[in-house]
Amino acid sequence: MGLLPGPPPRRVRRAGASVSSLFDRHKAVIPDWVALYYKDPIEITHGEGRHVWDADGRRYLDFFGGILTTMTAHALPEVTKAVAEQAGRIIHSSTLYLNRPMVELAERIAGLSGIPDARVFFTTSGTEANDTALLLATAYRRSNQILAMRNSYHGRSFSTVGITGNRSWSPTGLSPLQTLYVHGGVRNRGPYAQYTDERFVDACVADLEDLLGHTRDVAALIAEPVQGVGGFTSPPDGLYAAFRRVLDRHGILWIADEVQTGWGRTGDHFWGWQAHGQAGPPDILTFAKGIGNGMSVGGVVARAEIMNCIDANSISTFGGSPITMAAGLANLSYLLEHDLQGNARRVGGLLVERVRAAAAGVDAVREVRGRGLMIGVELTEPGTDKADPEAASAVLEAARERGLLIGKGGGHNTSVLRIAPPLSLTVAEAEEGAAILEEALGAL
Ligand code: PLP
Repeated sequence: MGLLPGPPPRRVRRAGASVSSLFDRHKAVIPDWVALYYKDPIEITHGEGRHVWDADGRRYLDFFGGILTTMTAHALPEVTKAVAEQAGRIIHSSTLYLNRPMVELAERIAGLSGIPDARVFFTTSGTEANDTALLLATAYRRSNQILAMRNSYHGRSFSTVGITGNRSWSPTGLSPLQTLYVHGGVRNRGPYAQYTDERFVDACVADLEDLLGHTRDVAALIAEPVQGVGGFTSPPDGLYAAFRRVLDRHGILWIADEVQTGWGRTGDHFWGWQAHGQAGPPDILTFAKGIGNGMSVGGVVARAEIMNCIDANSISTFGGSPITMAAGLANLSYLLEHDLQGNARRVGGLLVERVRAAAAGVDAVREVRGRGLMIGVELTEPGTDKADPEAASAVLEAARERGLLIGKGGGHNTSVLRIAPPLSLTVAEAEEGAAILEEALGAL
């Protein structure tokens, strides 16, 4: 058996057969609240590089990379080979036994994290990573009070959705934790839109100080360095360094949710927190999405003192599974050896300029913003600040018809187009995608 099967043959739809039959079956068994893109949803059958194919054999340039999960490239031979070889040996053995790929990946991530005396706990998702971070912070600080950013998103479990600032993601609004919401994630709304960076940071710090004046014993602040589902919005560099000075005075931990921003995606930095360098490394860092290149790898990094503060036997049945660790190791090696962070900076810099040019003169575009290969295009009803989710859906459909897949924000940010291709995007692909986007925006 060859280890590298290559792209499967394209499936041509039989006369009379239709993707909607799969859609009907989907609707019959999958909950209504599981989001699906497009009026006629796409069945993706395979991918290669920065492209994916649907069941009709149509090829798309993938500007959303799964959901930032395909970090390097689709069907990257190095990852496929590592996974196939590991599957041939053993897929799963559980953390009850020594596991070489898990230790090796933990060593590499601990070294990259910037956190001293780091310990790494692997999970199978970003939600579970954040859940674990919250467990650690509340246990370490003996408090169930959490600071979270407005407009944030941290996952879909009871504790993570309960603290998520993007309330439209929370089905009940109930939470096992007491959460206070801090300003700072979004700066182009309301009075803040007119502020300079310095004045914005000062205002957010004053807001944080004010909140802390009314409460005691907060466990941690959890924040995404660039808000992902929140529409790829970043605060000015240095906001979290300014926050850190306040948090340190109160002994409050800082959890950086790097689920979307890690591994060089933001171009200038390997981690999103490094844009706030003077803050120093976070007390707890969470990751997921891209590290497994689509395999379910998430995790938490914290210094030993925090990680080991819980005195309980605990395992994650699938966290650290050898097959996912093999994918993570091969993917991370490729990323570092090919300097994909540098590529994200260079090609992302070009792409954001091309997207700005494509959006120039389109009345519905309020803002184009970007860091590396994390680019947001915010759409509003022309001449107003009112979000326009229908316009965003129309652009998604028009881009899809022209062979380009893009994403959009979640909750009340569905009017923001999100562009986050695999980090190996080439200049030619960036140009091609921007040209399609220009046509799609022009069709509004
Ligand atoms: N944290 C952030 C910043 C995210 O963007 C997400 C998912 O989009 C999560 C956590 C949850 O990750 P997962 O969907 O893997 O549970």
